[in-house]
Amino acid sequence: MTSPTRVLVLNSGSSSLKYQLLDMRHDRRLAVGLVERIGEQTSRLEHTCVTSGDTREQDGPIADHDAALKAVAEELSRDGVGLDSPDLAAIGHRVVHGGMFFTEPTVIDDAVLTEIERLIPVAPLHNPANLTGIRTARSLRPDLPQVAVFDTAFHTTMPESAARYALDPRIADRYRIRRYGFHGTSHAYVSRETARLLGRDPADVNVIVLHLGNGASASAVRGGRCVDTSMGLTPLEGLVMGTRSGDLDPAVIFHLERVGGMSMDEIDTLLNKRSGLFGLCGDNDMREIRRRIDEGDEAAALAFDIYIHRLRKYIGAYCAVLGRVDAVAFTAGVGENAAAVREAAIAGLESMGLAVDAGLNAVRSREARLISPASARVAVAVVPTDEELEIATQTYALVGTGGKEELGNTSE
Ligand code: AMP
Repeated sequence: MTSPTRVLVLNSGSSSLKYQLLDMRHDRRLAVGLVERIGEQTSRLEHTCVTSGDTREQDGPIADHDAALKAVAEELSRDGVGLDSPDLAAIGHRVVHGGMFFTEPTVIDDAVLTEIERLIPVAPLHNPANLTGIRTARSLRPDLPQVAVFDTAFHTTMPESAARYALDPRIADRYRIRRYGFHGTSHAYVSRETARLLGRDPADVNVIVLHLGNGASASAVRGGRCVDTSMGLTPLEGLVMGTRSGDLDPAVIFHLERVGGMSMDEIDTLLNKRSGLFGLCGDNDMREIRRRIDEGDEAAALAFDIYIHRLRKYIGAYCAVLGRVDAVAFTAGVGENAAAVREAAIAGLESMGLAVDAGLNAVRSREARLISPASARVAVAVVPTDEELEIATQTYALVGTGGKEELGNTSE
């Protein structure tokens, strides 16, 4: 019998479950889908069988993640690729926070679950949801290898000078306060794909990756290893995002509490859910912001300018961190689609070797591509991210044919 080659990727949120089934031997997607509003009366499952192109939708209450995954399993069975298939090699789980403990994808056992649980205080929103997904999947297929792929893992190579805040280390260490970084799966994939686009070995290439989605982060990657990233203890630090403020003076928080009379929970919600582009102008979708700017809307124009100003500061900072930069890569929803953001982020940086060719920048494509003029010293690229493929690839490398069967390096 040939060895199994399919990997199911699960990305479990507090009330959602996103999934993809991939065939790693033939390098193709078999099914993709999403269950939303789990636990509400208005739950919804949308499933697409990629091979046939059929999409099926299911509306109606789905009580919990257990019921959600069972519904997904039924949909996969209808397409002949069910969870009971002997061709399923493993399930790969996105886990947001691996702390300093998990530096590589890791086969999940009870000890690993306990450690992910221990990290809940630094990831109170994400890790519990990821754990629910893992437990549900394990109960459905206890015999199958389950692999955790951590958003933080790619950033564990950051030097202490970038990873530490300027805090008393006794306090920082007691409460595990340091800069962990997130979106690591995307930064890893995009930095490698950028090297591939340049026809060079990732080990020889220095890249600034700009992951600009609803959440947004930048990273400085030297020879395939992350040396700095803009998100910190949590995904709140760094760039202006859809609804998160990114960097601000920490004294803003004291001020809101002491002078504004807001509770810590209210401030948390304000900074994570009601700030960023949304807080500035009432919209967090860059398409809508661009449309409003075209109509002369001043609040949208100011929100765009603040977003771009912060982005340019990080590009400049990471040029200094890296010393030599070979490429700047734009990715995720905004980075891949918003030509105006790319143009404004790079405009006037010729003295740093950076330029964008207007014609190339205007091309719409799902392919990785260069948008800098041939003469530019630093390549500027658009490189579509694919976090699910990266999770599946890392999972398969660990458990598939020829992969290591051992646990990853989990030294703290
Ligand atoms: P992500 O989190 O990577 O899925 O990115 C989602 C964000 O991408 C949305 O909130 C939009 O701001 C942005 N986006 C998606 N499509 C476009 C587009 N065609 N033009 C500009 N922005 C876009």
